[in-house]
Amino acid sequence: MCGIVGFTGNHQAAPILLYGLSRLEYRGYDSAGLAVRDGEGDTEVIKAKGRLKVLADKTNNGESVPGTCGIGHTRWATHGEPSETNAHPHMSDDGNVVAVHNGIIENYQELKDKLLRKRYSFYSETDTEVIAHLFEYYYKGDIMDTMIKVINRVEGSYALGVLCVDYPDQFIAVRKASPMIVGLGDEENFIASDVTAILKHTRDIYYLEDN
Ligand code: GLU
Repeated sequence: MCGIVGFTGNHQAAPILLYGLSRLEYRGYDSAGLAVRDGEGDTEVIKAKGRLKVLADKTNNGESVPGTCGIGHTRWATHGEPSETNAHPHMSDDGNVVAVHNGIIENYQELKDKLLRKRYSFYSETDTEVIAHLFEYYYKGDIMDTMIKVINRVEGSYALGVLCVDYPDQFIAVRKASPMIVGLGDEENFIASDVTAILKHTRDIYYLEDN
């Protein structure tokens, strides 16, 4: 089960992500991570095995990770042991794509074999890592177009949040057979696995349908 929270707006993202993830702890998890983007700068990815508190301590409750756009994740391992390496977010080879995922990519081995033949390298044991590489593989400058190509290629269940180098203050999200909601705020927006993660910020919420 586990959870996803995403934020983009005019506030520091990391504390909002950590708070949101803490509201999703009831869903169970074995590790956690977040990715935050500060304008045009690089995306910073921080991960920790174990309790969310370890991630909070590592980031000084989010304060040491500046930036106003980000995605956070709690993982319940299905492919690969609970570890810092296997924790999300996962990154493409070129570092331009950063993804979080809840669910299972059923055809990940087939996709991984194809990407390996195209000289992509893998650092984790997760099914999710194929998403980051596949996104990089298809990306020609349009985030929406790329996401459509990715979901046409993957089989299984997913709630996905993706940051992309050319979109400093945006992320893209999609779901199929795994929960994901969108929260609209005042010059800020959210995604989350469950309303409890963002109710403190907005009650203007809608439910994404499959695909
Ligand atoms: N299948 C993915 C993994 O093992 C995601 C698990 C989850 O839903 O947290 O990393």
